[in-house]
Amino acid sequence: MAASTSAQWYRIPALKDNYIWMLENPSTGALAIIDPGETEAVMAALKAHDLTPTEIINTHHHADHTDGNAALRAAFDIPLMAPASEQARIADITTPVSHGDRVTIAGYDAHVIETPGHTTGHVAFHLPDIGGDHGIAFVGDTLFSMGCGRVFEGTMAEMWASLAALRDLPDETLICAGHEYSAANADYVASLNWSRAESHDRMAAIKSLRAEGEPTLPVMLGVEKKANPFLNCDAPDLIAAMNMPADSDPAEVFDALRTGKDQF
Ligand SMILES: [Zn+2]
Repeated sequence: MAASTSAQWYRIPALKDNYIWMLENPSTGALAIIDPGETEAVMAALKAHDLTPTEIINTHHHADHTDGNAALRAAFDIPLMAPASEQARIADITTPVSHGDRVTIAGYDAHVIETPGHTTGHVAFHLPDIGGDHGIAFVGDTLFSMGCGRVFEGTMAEMWASLAALRDLPDETLICAGHEYSAANADYVASLNWSRAESHDRMAAIKSLRAEGEPTLPVMLGVEKKANPFLNCDAPDLIAAMNMPADSDPAEVFDALRTGKDQF
């Protein structure tokens, strides 16, 4: 009888609306902490689950994703994997990574996908096989449920390309994003009068989960591919809902959609 070696994930609510993620490899005890924006919440989770971390992973330089790096590294003497292009803004990276790199996270094979837009050096990590029937992706502040990150440093076209790259991952990919923004995102999507049934289904699910005080993440990518307008900027029904010409450049549709959210 084969023992299950499927990865175990942990979601740690932190700061105002952040999620810090952890991924454990039960067969080796390896434990990765992804985007520790603070130390205390992580220490409490480690104690509660009797876990010892073996590595820290950062998707981008923002303080609400990195402020716990130094204290956790000092406490456990563990390496830090982060974007090579952010070495000036993230201190003491031991494993700098770039687009296309194949690395291991908690002992699982992981692919590095550059996702600029929210910040210039933002990356996502896709782990296609963590045991079980789905992969997992740590996407930081690029993709949220029913939304996407604000475009602070890159261009709208870069952010659209980043989202399109994430959309290329398999439907059976569990999306672990950096913030619980789903309810506010759903309110904006509702204002678009986009008649896509799957989008309305996801909005209803988010409303119901949040009414119970439950998290809406992680979410399967296959759900977001159909429900999230930011992943549908080349879809005729969304372009029509945006009142834009049918032959619009998807990057321009994305620009209009994102700008609308910024002003919502
Ligand atoms: Zn951020």
